[in-house]
Amino acid sequence: MSHTAELIAVGTELLLGNIANTDAQMISEKLSALGITVHYHTVVGDNPQRLAEALEIARRRADIIITTGGLGPTYDDLTKQTICKAFHRELELHEDILDTIRTWFETKMQKKMPENNTQQAMLPVNCTVFDNPVGTAPGCAFEEDGVHVLMLPGPPFECRYMFENRAVPYLLRLTDGVIVSHEIRVYGMGESSVEEKLHEPMTRLTNPTLAPYAKTNEVMLRATAKAETREAAETMLEPLIRQVQDELGDVVYGVDVESLEEVVSALLRERNLTLSAAESCTGGLIAKRMTDLPGASAIFRGGVVSYTNGVKAQVLGVPETLLEESGAVSEPVACAMAEGCRRICGSDLAVAITGVAGPDSDERGTPVGTVYIALASENGVICRLYSCGRGRGRGRVRTSAAQNAFDLIRRFLLDLPL
Ligand code: ATP
Ligand code: MG
Repeated sequence: MSHTAELIAVGTELLLGNIANTDAQMISEKLSALGITVHYHTVVGDNPQRLAEALEIARRRADIIITTGGLGPTYDDLTKQTICKAFHRELELHEDILDTIRTWFETKMQKKMPENNTQQAMLPVNCTVFDNPVGTAPGCAFEEDGVHVLMLPGPPFECRYMFENRAVPYLLRLTDGVIVSHEIRVYGMGESSVEEKLHEPMTRLTNPTLAPYAKTNEVMLRATAKAETREAAETMLEPLIRQVQDELGDVVYGVDVESLEEVVSALLRERNLTLSAAESCTGGLIAKRMTDLPGASAIFRGGVVSYTNGVKAQVLGVPETLLEESGAVSEPVACAMAEGCRRICGSDLAVAITGVAGPDSDERGTPVGTVYIALASENGVICRLYSCGRGRGRGRVRTSAAQNAFDLIRRFLLDLPL
């Protein structure tokens, strides 16, 4: 049986626009990965009557209701009480949960538990308790008339932890069999071209399924299969993933990987190579993304944010004449930056990025989004010209330039066409 979920976020702050409903975004994304359809997101203030109304509507059109927020100990935290009233359930005190909360205060907060936190240990009778090791408010779930109600705390970190570690196992038990999915990451092909090439499997298949998700500067495809066992699901997915790789070719940069830099790092590690970066318009994005990864020091030696011509010349040793003749945003300067960076950082490879982030073109009239990326290695230096995220603001030009740089390094390391 297929399930339909509705999310109800409880919190006046959400309605006032003080905060965005990021819990709903996180949960929806993960529900779709589980193959559970979400038809509605509702937001309601800390008001029991309106929450009761929202619950009445939701129980008629969904068989899974997930609420976030309002599980705290204060007077405005009314989610549990209101849900219990709507579903005719009593609340009962869970001594063991109370003990856990008391211990949490004593060890983590170094203080005695305030009396009103007792409220958090009151849970619906006959519910599945979602204990919360990352906060005080436990969540819970129960079923009534074929509708499953799951309550999660509002603070995003707790909500995520509780969803992944408590709600997902609960939801998986509702569906027979197991759902397995794999993420196929694509860089260098637009969403519409991907869809065109994979139209057939995307529209025809029901199990396994193939669904595209446009990410910033790239496309992610999720292949999902449901079967009796994990092995059976994997067997169904394998040919589909192969088909995607065959159709799309080398723009597929990985399966179940997080990012291009993760792939680049793995390749560098495998080949025992180090990288450095000379960055102009990306202002350190390459260095940031490389060093976001644990263990980066083994492969990333460092970099120079050579934003001005002065730094390009004095630190990286780009000849002044070259800067004057060709301009800072040019192939010869990108190449000289990469070579200089490789020399001063002592790395096997050095990538250099110089471009026009905007909003205006440079003094030579080079249009916004023009980016040269060079890669120096022991075999010399190569350079490519890109047009990055034009008309979408500085941020997009910069992230797109960094993506292109990582993809260039990936292609270089794998001997793929540049
Ligand atoms: P607490 O024990 O902190 O009171 P709670 O479960 O009662 O937790 P709320 O009081 O509703 O949750 O919200 C606590 C905080 O969590 C809010 O101030 C807000 O910053 C954040 N929060 C709540 N709901 C959401 C949401 N849907 N999306 C993002 N953040 C949220
Ligand atoms: Mg609260």
